[in-house]
Amino acid sequence: MRLYVSCDMEGTAGVCYWRQCDPENRDEYPMYRRYMTQEVCAAIDGAREGGATEFLVNDSHWSMRNLLWDELPADVRVVAGAPKPHSMAEGLNAGADAVFLTGYHAKSGARDGVLAHTFSDETVYRVTINGTECSEAILVGALAGAHDIPVLLVTGDSTIVAETLRAFPWATGVVVKESIGYYAVNTLAPQAAQAAIRKGAREAMARVGAARPFTFQSPVEMRLETTGVQHADFIELMPGFERLDGRTVRFSAGDYPTVYRAYVAAVRLAAGANAPA
Ligand SMILES: [Zn+2]
Repeated sequence: MRLYVSCDMEGTAGVCYWRQCDPENRDEYPMYRRYMTQEVCAAIDGAREGGATEFLVNDSHWSMRNLLWDELPADVRVVAGAPKPHSMAEGLNAGADAVFLTGYHAKSGARDGVLAHTFSDETVYRVTINGTECSEAILVGALAGAHDIPVLLVTGDSTIVAETLRAFPWATGVVVKESIGYYAVNTLAPQAAQAAIRKGAREAMARVGAARPFTFQSPVEMRLETTGVQHADFIELMPGFERLDGRTVRFSAGDYPTVYRAYVAAVRLAAGANAPA
């Protein structure tokens, strides 16, 4: 049983402020990267108790070099470093039997979503696919679904867990903190969160028989609303993109993996669209 884990950081217990997740921050980041790593380890421990035997972990936050090697089990492989073409879903194309999403957070624009964003808080205002407003969990979960792999577990803040379970009702959700607002949470202590994740992971494995891959129907249409007009100016240059208004572009394809690739490319292009300081 091969498990793929995409791990983010803003949905880790205790996190409520950007600097806690910023690799440049020497005060708080070292502590929170350890909690992020320990939540991944807890998910792997629970999965192992539930029958998983192989583990590929994709470090999916910021520099994507967050996980502390000394804390990880020796039999885990890690996709590390950024940028990488498939970003938070890198390595999924190698195949897996199930997906866990840990440390996930509410989508851009979500009410009561701590540090809510979708890939980029600087450029992405909203992304919808076939009319569904997407979080990172949906974007990654749908790519897994396109490879016939179901999402079994999501951990993070209350807003993302509730939303993800609406899309993937067969999955198990572990809420490590209640989102109060963009910069505020009511959170479990890290050790309690890790215990809950381990238990949730074990339960998720027991429900694998009921799990289904999540897919978008063909044709797949993406509408991406950027935070600034300058971002859409450059995304529009890419073949296949159509400009709908100042901040909205549209892209469609017959299959979701093509749309996902277009999304990642658009977000990376948008990141270079601001005038130099
Ligand atoms: Zn994220």
